[in-house]
Amino acid sequence: MHTSALVLFSGGQDSTTCLAYALERYQRVETVAFDYGQRHHVELAARQSVLRELRHQFPRWSSALDEDHLLDLSVLGAVSETALTRDTAFKMEANGLPNTFVPGRNLLFLTLSAALAYRRGLQVLVTGVCETDFSGYPDCRDDTMKAMQLALSLGMDQRFLIETPLMWIDKAATWDMARRLGDASGEPGGGQKMVDLIVEHTHTCYLGDRSQRHAWGYGCGTCPACLLRAKGYSAFSDSLNKGDTGAAPSGA
Ligand code: ZN
Repeated sequence: MHTSALVLFSGGQDSTTCLAYALERYQRVETVAFDYGQRHHVELAARQSVLRELRHQFPRWSSALDEDHLLDLSVLGAVSETALTRDTAFKMEANGLPNTFVPGRNLLFLTLSAALAYRRGLQVLVTGVCETDFSGYPDCRDDTMKAMQLALSLGMDQRFLIETPLMWIDKAATWDMARRLGDASGEPGGGQKMVDLIVEHTHTCYLGDRSQRHAWGYGCGTCPACLLRAKGYSAFSDSLNKGDTGAAPSGA
């Protein structure tokens, strides 16, 4: 029986939903993020607001939420030139991958997370990777995760479970999962609170724009991450308005 988890938590919508998932499921949850010279430290600031709001708005989860870790991975900026580590415009490359692709990034993240989990006595790694939407990053694929789980478990001689609650769902379903987790928390109005928290405090925009507030949150509104988030929110709101779930969407 697993009782503790380490969540790879960047401060975006997906990893925040994964954090709620872990808090609802495990008695002790720690979080980790990596500072690799992201163009926008706004993401690292967002994660602090999310942690603060989760503690404040969801007292039951708060008791499970343990230490937060930030690991310096600036070496990634030295070995790879991408739109996430350099000040270049977003575009698709000839190989069909966006130029935000940092080769091996998730493999490094998982390896370091497992090393940290080993030291902290945590059994499960939770990550928001997803095969369904948009990017096709090869290090987010289900097969890659299964291979990593095996490699890490063998290489550290300790059985790690890698959980990927978002692997097969789209962004509309990710919004809905957050709402359901909020409800499951037992907090009055928890579903709506969780959706509002994601809208207000998480950050996914590639350009680091927090000057424009949309129904779905802050962002430039035109980069691929914003478009995906907006499209998912719109489908989620529509399904709520049709009465599929009986609740009203936030800020729409
Ligand atoms: Zn954007």
